[in-house]
Amino acid sequence: MTDTPHLGQPGAGDRKDLGYPPLPETLLVSVYDSHTHLDPSTGSGRRTAMGDEAALDYREHLDRASSVGVHGVVQVGTDVDTSIWSAEMAAIEPRMLAAVAIHPNEAPELAVRGRLDDALGTIAELATRPRVRAIGETGLDFFRTGADGQEAQLRSFEAHIEIAKQNGLALQIHDRDAHSEVIATLKRVGAPERTVFHCFSGDLELASICTENGWYMSFAGTVTFKNAPNLRDALEVVPRSLLLVETDAPYLTPVPYRGRPNAPYLLPFTVRSIAAYLDTDVNLLAAQISSNTEYVFGRWDDEPVSSQRDPFEDVES
Ligand SMILES: [Zn+2]
Repeated sequence: MTDTPHLGQPGAGDRKDLGYPPLPETLLVSVYDSHTHLDPSTGSGRRTAMGDEAALDYREHLDRASSVGVHGVVQVGTDVDTSIWSAEMAAIEPRMLAAVAIHPNEAPELAVRGRLDDALGTIAELATRPRVRAIGETGLDFFRTGADGQEAQLRSFEAHIEIAKQNGLALQIHDRDAHSEVIATLKRVGAPERTVFHCFSGDLELASICTENGWYMSFAGTVTFKNAPNLRDALEVVPRSLLLVETDAPYLTPVPYRGRPNAPYLLPFTVRSIAAYLDTDVNLLAAQISSNTEYVFGRWDDEPVSSQRDPFEDVES
């Protein structure tokens, strides 16, 4: 380590309403963020309209997260470049494991350009790398992809399921407005042993189907939103052994900071909100979630990190 990350109160500048929220109270029992995007191109490190003070690199995010009881993350790729980044960074960062995939909304565009098969080949290669523990996010998204793109989306989803099974990896599913097609596909081709509905967006019925099949449900900041009573109804029937949590940062910031940028260090807000809703002890809940997460993705310290330096870091003189 050569430099000390900035851990001052985030968002203390004049544009604080758009900056990162302050650190939450530390969780006594640590949890993992099972789905986040810290890559500089799509994720939380991006310099945006929020200004340069909002840009944090992945190490600063992980330092903040560790300081409040979020001791590891699954970094998720959504295309070839971010999947390569995820695999390479997980190989050198002990607090990070990787998931690799072509996002369901990327697949149709790649198919039109005749590049989907090459991209899937890259994902299959990355799936064999150390510390890549999941294939995702993949699935179906009928909200953003119209009828003309759904064939490519389905083909890509099926290919990802095969890659997960061939490599004994977990599957992280993106399901937006496509519950019945996602379920039908999993049943038709056979779901991997550890299958996760990331950013669970279903209701009581989907939660019951996931439960019957032993599929994991990962709850994001959306479960804290006032206008999402269906998620809290679903939460009530989710067996504790199938429950995971995530941020999906930089999106979906939990209440009370909805609208501001999200980051793994904000996960305690979601965990506390779930504990309060279920009227259960937050430490017991965190212990269960942590153990579920290690069961699905393996332990963060199972495979050693390589001693290589950050392959994407600019060479300094
Ligand atoms: Zn995501």
